[in-house]
Amino acid sequence: DAAALLQRRHRHYARPQKNYYRMPPQIERGWKEHLFDLEGRAYLDMVNNVTLVGHGHSRLSAAVGRQWSLLNTNSRFHYAAVAEFSERLAALAPEGLDTVFLVNSGSEANDLALRLAWAASGARNVVSLLEAYHGWTVASDAVSTSIADNPQALTTRPDWVHPVVSPNTYRGPFRGEGSTGDYVDAVSRKLRELDEKGGKLAGFISEPVYGNAGGIPLPPGYLEAVYALVRARGGVCIADEVQVGYGRLGHYFWGFEQQGVVPDIITVAKGMGNGHPLGAVITRRTIADALEEEGYFFSSAGGSPVSSVVGLTVLDILHDEALTENARSVGDYLKGRLEALVERFPLAGAVHGMGLYLGVEFVRDRETLEPATEETAAICDRLLDLGVIMQPTGDHLNVLKIKPPLCLARESADFFADTLGRVLEEGW
Ligand code: PMP
Repeated sequence: DAAALLQRRHRHYARPQKNYYRMPPQIERGWKEHLFDLEGRAYLDMVNNVTLVGHGHSRLSAAVGRQWSLLNTNSRFHYAAVAEFSERLAALAPEGLDTVFLVNSGSEANDLALRLAWAASGARNVVSLLEAYHGWTVASDAVSTSIADNPQALTTRPDWVHPVVSPNTYRGPFRGEGSTGDYVDAVSRKLRELDEKGGKLAGFISEPVYGNAGGIPLPPGYLEAVYALVRARGGVCIADEVQVGYGRLGHYFWGFEQQGVVPDIITVAKGMGNGHPLGAVITRRTIADALEEEGYFFSSAGGSPVSSVVGLTVLDILHDEALTENARSVGDYLKGRLEALVERFPLAGAVHGMGLYLGVEFVRDRETLEPATEETAAICDRLLDLGVIMQPTGDHLNVLKIKPPLCLARESADFFADTLGRVLEEGW
């Protein structure tokens, strides 16, 4: 039973790796946007930001099986798939970003991006946003400021990290679309402080749509202005597309397109491998080459034959099944249905995001925006009873993290909105 399984997990499996998703006791299999437990009960998976093209995809498993039986090896060897996958990624990136590193996770991708920024700029200081999550490795963790993930986040910063106020247009110090200037001024002040101390700037890292804060778009023009300030000082601009990129926004393939900017380094992971460990850094040749002067880069399994085939097949499926278009149409439809809930229930303060990258933020009071943290947890628990897997996100854990597979059917969007409506109607 569930308790015995949890006990067994805790015996040898490290406790800090929390099984914190509200989950049925044991998932046995998945199909498209659904997961099934041992008894065969179906759950709608609305939170999975990794399984981009859906669970149990037979085209993907066939391609992986074929490649496994042919060859999988240390990435030091030469094989065709890695060249082909790099070409495909470079073709997807804006002009000039034509050089690819393949790794195994988002944390590694961000660590590598920071090392590239250090090598290319000859400097060390990095500006990152408050409320951010960029990974758990030493450098990616250093620029992660989310107190939900790490309550000590703000007291353990190394001195090369310079956090600036999160440009959260919903609950930040400045609100709404007109807040761009105030948020840019905050970055400008931070950079001037650094200039005055003689600190040289290596770069700036952010998600281009703020996933960790609940899917909040940055104020219009924010990245354009910040990138200009950073580049004027010789810094490198990093876009963390680990959650937001790869078609999830529906209206854009990359998050930075929504801000109308081109970064110097793009980091990708999660969905690009559909659950297989795969990440990438896409950058300019000059930036990539800067690392060579300092040493070299190597990852035993990053871009292995199997990983490369996974990456290629995910891209084929995205294209052939028109999943970005589905994220747009079903995502817009779902957003409309969730906005109708905001009209009906005062607790639902706002819907953030676009495509299948959405957040519903719960507040006790729409004026003070007091976060409804306990209520959000109870709503997620009740959703699980009713067959929907959902999880709170944001620094106050008061936002529903709506990031389902991009194959989400319209009927599933309806089921989610109907079920959430029922939970809010019943009280929690
Ligand atoms: N960046 C962002 C924006 C993320 O959401 C995550 C994962 N939650 C990471 C980086 C780290 O990715 P990984 O867990 O694959 O190391």
